[in-house]
Amino acid sequence: MPRPELFGHAIVGWTCHARGLGCAKPHRRKPDVDEAIPSPEAEWPDHMLAKADACLYCRSRALTEEISGVADHFFGCVPFESDFARCADCGSLVQMRPLTSEALPRAYASYYTHKQEHHGEIGRGLKGWLRHQYVASRFRQDSSALARFGAVAYRLAGGNWQETDAAYRFVPPAPARVLDYGCGSGAYLKSLKQLGYDVTGVDFDAHSIALSRASGLRAFALDELPREEWHGRFDAITLGHVIEHVHDPASLLADLRGWLAEGGMVFIEAPNAQATGLDLFGKYWRGLEAPRHLAIPTIAGLEAILARAGLQITHRAVRRSVRPWMWDESLQAMPESVRQKTLLAARNAPKLAAENAEFLTVVARPVPS
Ligand SMILES: [Zn+2]
Repeated sequence: MPRPELFGHAIVGWTCHARGLGCAKPHRRKPDVDEAIPSPEAEWPDHMLAKADACLYCRSRALTEEISGVADHFFGCVPFESDFARCADCGSLVQMRPLTSEALPRAYASYYTHKQEHHGEIGRGLKGWLRHQYVASRFRQDSSALARFGAVAYRLAGGNWQETDAAYRFVPPAPARVLDYGCGSGAYLKSLKQLGYDVTGVDFDAHSIALSRASGLRAFALDELPREEWHGRFDAITLGHVIEHVHDPASLLADLRGWLAEGGMVFIEAPNAQATGLDLFGKYWRGLEAPRHLAIPTIAGLEAILARAGLQITHRAVRRSVRPWMWDESLQAMPESVRQKTLLAARNAPKLAAENAEFLTVVARPVPS
């Protein structure tokens, strides 16, 4: 039976990397009937869990436990629950006992398939055609009269051009050089390549790399990055739903800063630790996604960590299609007994704004020297 869609579902440009660093819709592995099931304690001994002593974004040690008992609702990869603390300085959420870097890949082990992203999904009818012209004009520098007319008409006809720009991660027009860090199966890069971009991908997962390469993309595993060669190379680096998955986001951003070409930009999207959805759904909120989300930033946390890498936020977007999707997913994870109350609260939720959006969607650039 198809599950009910309570808040609607349409979302454009949502990253769906089942085995990559990005978030994904649930694709659970079917258990093998003959498989012996060891106890959770034997499978996940205590030494696999580290202890958070500081905020990953602003380095503050003022952490206070706020959300406890977060289960792996969306993938069911681990049998244990996780707890999150709130940073008193920047407000970010930090997992109190995160899996160590050696153990963390096991929390991705049950993903068994790869769902395609919807980048470049153009749509049908006149509006679809207009969107196509908008994309050609905006991202392919197609200066034909037809593309220019279509692009203007798309905006005049109420086309969601902000969402389209966000789906393409605000990258500069082709033929810019784009690095997608956390590229998964490479669907986003494929759509850029079709628009004439020079694209490169990075992922931590060997299977994702293999899939990307099979589609003819240039893709690298974390241990084979040509770091020296990449110095000053990329016009845009995209980090869609990656920063919340890594143990050391500060050193990642320092690397990315070094790989940016003159005038380059970094796109970052991550769940927002000040989202209305977190207030509504608490430990069932989709954005928590324990144990894979190690720390969920606020805008202040993101600003702090970017500043340390010599970067600053130059643009911030609100993606309207995200809220219904996130709320619907969260509600599905809730027990029946509390859903009704939450649905009522959702009706009186504050209006969508940058501060309370489900995702932080930003573009950052080097701080002028
Ligand atoms: Zn902090």
